[in-house]
Amino acid sequence: MSSMEDKLRTLLSQLRDPETGRELGKTNQVLQVQIAGGQAQCTLALTSHSLPIQDEFVDSVEQRIRSQCPELQSITVSVEPLDRPPIPLGQIGLTAKSVIAVGSGKGGVGKSTVATSLALKLLKCGARVGLLDADVYGPSVPQLLGLAGRPEVINGKIQPIYFEEMPVMSMAFLVEPDQAVIWRGPMLHGSITQFLRDTYWGPLDYLIIDMPPGTGDIALTLSQLLPLTGAVVVCTPQQVALLDAIKAIAMFRKTKIPVLGMVENMSGFTCPDCGKRYDIFGKGGAKLKAEECEVPFLGEVPINIQLREQSDSGGLASALEDPICDVALDKIMRSLVRGMSMSASTKPAGAALPVL
Ligand code: ADP
Repeated sequence: MSSMEDKLRTLLSQLRDPETGRELGKTNQVLQVQIAGGQAQCTLALTSHSLPIQDEFVDSVEQRIRSQCPELQSITVSVEPLDRPPIPLGQIGLTAKSVIAVGSGKGGVGKSTVATSLALKLLKCGARVGLLDADVYGPSVPQLLGLAGRPEVINGKIQPIYFEEMPVMSMAFLVEPDQAVIWRGPMLHGSITQFLRDTYWGPLDYLIIDMPPGTGDIALTLSQLLPLTGAVVVCTPQQVALLDAIKAIAMFRKTKIPVLGMVENMSGFTCPDCGKRYDIFGKGGAKLKAEECEVPFLGEVPINIQLREQSDSGGLASALEDPICDVALDKIMRSLVRGMSMSASTKPAGAALPVL
């Protein structure tokens, strides 16, 4: 191997895996380094957890090589898939690498829409995603995705209902649509535990949990069951909604769930006829509040008529094909995964998240 190849291999080995934050060399993720006629070809192994930001990771690696090895004429970094199954989490042994709760201070701000859209975006990137509708008071995920059915129990495991390859579990699959469910604290705890522990989720990169609005009960239950990666707080731009969002941030912090960021939903409306933008509920409030609370601001989702119409009739996935929604949610998903990747790389190796 040439000394240039040695130099390149050392450089690549010291880069951190976007999923674990560990050096690529320590986990045998530098597969190939070859230089011929000033052209470098490198192959790295990355897991499907990294797929949402794989393109930007590869770009940053190529840039880094270019700046440190200016004598190279061309650099190509390619990626081979690496299968690294998740380690079972908490006492319930959930097989998910990242568990993300999506919450809000109050109902009606688009929390379920954002949670489901994030899950769909991650799925589209090729990651293995599960979606748990823990909003037991008003489970709406099946409605947004046009899913129905009764989960079967096979070998003691509840079989989720699938949207494409994504397992989805919701109280809406278990109760009649017009039936009211009255929850007492222990029942609530029991049902969430059962959804997490007894559902056949399979190995997941991401489990997205659509939380009930406001209440701290489920956050507390979750934090006792497993180490959550963190929470995303959804709010709308009005002052009153922002005050509720601040309470939601405080609630997650109290239950030792890290806040991964804030999303401003229903942020502005662009008239499809004239192209003029109207900030119906105001604009930018969530960004300011996020700065004040020292949490990352992940991005904005504008008011979109298609999103409302299609998600009400089970077509959220097709509404996301609208270029405005697509760009907005892509930015939010990337900011979220990038932030998680950055904190993985600054976390001391082997550090576990606290379980209350
Ligand atoms: P929550 O989970 O906070 O109660 P939902 O996600 O159920 O809120 O959304 C409430 C209503 O607002 C739904 O009818 C949904 O389609 C609509 N909605 C959510 N986000 C948007 C948006 N960005 N543009 C238009 N309608 C939206």
